[in-house]
Amino acid sequence: MKRAFPFSRTLTVLLAMALIAVLVGAAAMQALAQGDDPASTAEPEVTAAAPEAATEAASDVTWTVNEMTFQSNYPTGFTFTIDLTSSAAPIARGRVVWTHAVGTNSQRSQSAELDPETGKLVADWVVQGGDAVPPWVGITYTWQITDEDGNAFESEPEYVEYEDTTREWLRVESEDVIVFTEGLSAEVGPLTVDAMAEQRETYRQAWGDLLPYKPRAILFGDQDAWLEWRKGLQNPRVIGTTDEHWGATVQIIYGGDMEDLAYGTVPHEIGHLYQGQFTIMTPGSWFIEGNATFFELHQQYDYEASVREMAAAGNLPALLDGTGPGVSGNNARRGYDIGYTFWRWFVDNYGLDGHRELIELLDQGISRNEALQTVTGLSLQEIESRWRTWLGASPIPPTLFPTPTMFFFPTVTPYGK
Ligand SMILES: [Zn+2]
Repeated sequence: MKRAFPFSRTLTVLLAMALIAVLVGAAAMQALAQGDDPASTAEPEVTAAAPEAATEAASDVTWTVNEMTFQSNYPTGFTFTIDLTSSAAPIARGRVVWTHAVGTNSQRSQSAELDPETGKLVADWVVQGGDAVPPWVGITYTWQITDEDGNAFESEPEYVEYEDTTREWLRVESEDVIVFTEGLSAEVGPLTVDAMAEQRETYRQAWGDLLPYKPRAILFGDQDAWLEWRKGLQNPRVIGTTDEHWGATVQIIYGGDMEDLAYGTVPHEIGHLYQGQFTIMTPGSWFIEGNATFFELHQQYDYEASVREMAAAGNLPALLDGTGPGVSGNNARRGYDIGYTFWRWFVDNYGLDGHRELIELLDQGISRNEALQTVTGLSLQEIESRWRTWLGASPIPPTLFPTPTMFFFPTVTPYGK
């Protein structure tokens, strides 16, 4: 999901903020020292492509794998090969099945060709149209192979990455995240690691668990590098994409607010990965963007204060009746900020456990308004007026609930991911 464009950034940096940044920076450098160890990866282990034998329990066939290889052809795709034999018959066909995020339902596959000269199976995945994937996504794959007698073989999962060796990337990995940066200050990775550690228990409590995979933040500083991977997706206005099928957020950063990137953008975007994994929310709504904004640890300005000003001026729109404020176009930030205050108010009153109860109801397909009423035990009108009163607005929204009977017939909206 696209993140809103960076708007005005706070010009004044509070002394306290600067102190925090210094402390955080120091902690993050330690994290780099620990997290940078290539052996510390928690992803499925990469096994060497050494010969191995596997015997299918259901038959007497012995499959012998002589060699398996993976090659990244970034930015155009990747190639898998396998050299194996079946004791029963020649190899008939095979395919590779892979996921970028283990624990999600997202799978892709590529059928293989049998190379007549070498006898190897070769599966070549080439980027087409809009299906490009960014560099440095993880790829956990298995081979599924059949011999001419119909015997089937499936290899153990292997883990590799879609490497971009044409540029200088920095990689920092921790318990919470894998960060790749290109064309950015070396501090960005460690700062992001620190931000994600700080949010770990908040995510866990709000969603009921951590993501089943380790999310990736792939952060570009260079426009050419950014445009290169997005073959067929050349809308230059897009400055970031987060996709649960990749288990990753990719962002290009203009300007140099590293703190906002690490503590604001990444936790927000990882929030979208949690939404995709754990619940159903309407894309492009104040509700989903306000929720992701709730997970930011750094704000470009004081969002709550901005909405309080709106409330004091009598400009706070109706929220729960209808679609509420939009989150695109010139007033995009307004929808994000208003949505943020709603989630802030909700969690202040019902806790992160209330957040979890709410997203569980949404995940069952229950509408937003019904779920809110269930968790709070309040009518929609009462929820909206309490939120408004908390912001210093008049309790009655401008156009909400034209007749009292409306309270009992909340609009049922079809929700989709
Ligand atoms: Zn967002």
